[in-house]
Amino acid sequence: MPRTYIGALRGFDDGTDVVIYGWLQEARIMKNVSFLILRDNTGIIQATFKNDEATLETIKRINRESIVKVQGVINKKSVSKSGIEIKGTSVSVVNEAEAPLPLPVIDPVQADLETRLNSRFIDLRKRNVSAIFRIESSLLWGIREYLHGQNFIEVHTPKIVAAATEGGADLFPVRYFEKDAYLNQSPQLYKEVLMSAGFDRVFEVGPAFRAEEHNTTRHLNEFTSIDIEMSFADHNDAMSMLENAIKSGVENAIRTKNDDFEALGISISVPETPFPRITYEKCIELLSSEGIDFKFGDDFSPDHLRMIGSRFKGFYFITEWPASVRPFYTMPKQDDPKLTNSFDLQYREIEVTSGAQRVHDPKMLVERFREKKLDVKSFQFYIDAFKYGMPPHAGWGLGLERHTMILLGLNNIRETTLFPRDRTRIVP
Ligand code: ATP
Ligand code: MN
Repeated sequence: MPRTYIGALRGFDDGTDVVIYGWLQEARIMKNVSFLILRDNTGIIQATFKNDEATLETIKRINRESIVKVQGVINKKSVSKSGIEIKGTSVSVVNEAEAPLPLPVIDPVQADLETRLNSRFIDLRKRNVSAIFRIESSLLWGIREYLHGQNFIEVHTPKIVAAATEGGADLFPVRYFEKDAYLNQSPQLYKEVLMSAGFDRVFEVGPAFRAEEHNTTRHLNEFTSIDIEMSFADHNDAMSMLENAIKSGVENAIRTKNDDFEALGISISVPETPFPRITYEKCIELLSSEGIDFKFGDDFSPDHLRMIGSRFKGFYFITEWPASVRPFYTMPKQDDPKLTNSFDLQYREIEVTSGAQRVHDPKMLVERFREKKLDVKSFQFYIDAFKYGMPPHAGWGLGLERHTMILLGLNNIRETTLFPRDRTRIVP
């Protein structure tokens, strides 16, 4: 008989014969009957067995979290909470679990995050933990769907590279045969080269590596970046693409992941678009109206951003950042070149996206390299792509884990990362 998912049992008639496979979450042995609580990816069900000698012997020997096979009959007149159970006819062990478990699955007091991450394979068996990743997947799917609908193609650019994207020291070196190489911080340079190649609109979902020393609740050393680049477009076009992509992701999650939101005990709503926009200079005015002295050209601290963010309900853009805090490839503002056609998408004090219109004029690009004291030679492949027909273009990079974290109201980016890489952790 074929396997039935636990979540599908409800769709069958009372009295139907079924076979289910799952993890044995719990066994309760009473005087005349035993109850097995079985779990798979789709749900939890109780199977009831009469305590005949052979069955009782088997059940007594099964450790928690073993993989078991249960054959039985659907009982929809069950007095159990869910109103449905299996009247078991046979049970067998497919693969035994050792005891004791490194971490309980049924965990009245949640273990601390470090302990949970050490035994992540068990931690992820908890309904309210796996829910995060089902939702994350659906957010990404909605974003992908939207971008495909806007004629973007999904691309894959190299993660082993010869030159730093942003300059800077946040690079992991790797040995590449007889050469030195790095893990890429961002697909920025390659997605721009693809604009010169004529693809018009590309997006990439892939790992980005940052050798940042600090250990915070919103930084990882490896994260998933959702990047887009679009031709014949400016920062405003990129911002509306971002709003709509995010909206599509949230709509998809709400439409398809009801049970997961329930398991997490939260509900979210589709953000209203367009998101409010506030310029960098307006932010400074806002801070000074709160008595905070802030120098033009600096980056905002989390405290500053908390104050600015308190003016907005959810997402908001900070636009027109000074050139001093933006990368070399950022397009200066036409009538005021100390500012740029750039934006960050913020959610309260947390940045979720950076984006901009990019420089497309090769002479201006080389100038910007010089200003930022970067070595032109190591970027030759990139600069060449600008010399033979580069369209104006714009784009952004959205951190998937950070995005999921803020939408679900979680307080640590490690919660939205299956196997986080941070300053001290590379295992598991
Ligand atoms: P921050 O100032 O928060 O360190 P950043 O400005 O250095 O971020 P960008 O290079 O602009 O980051 O990257 C674009 C997006 O990628 C960020 O808005 C964020 O969502 C995500 N991101 C960047 N760095 C990290 C990181 N270390 N861990 C997780 N996500 C990150
Ligand atoms: Mn940024």
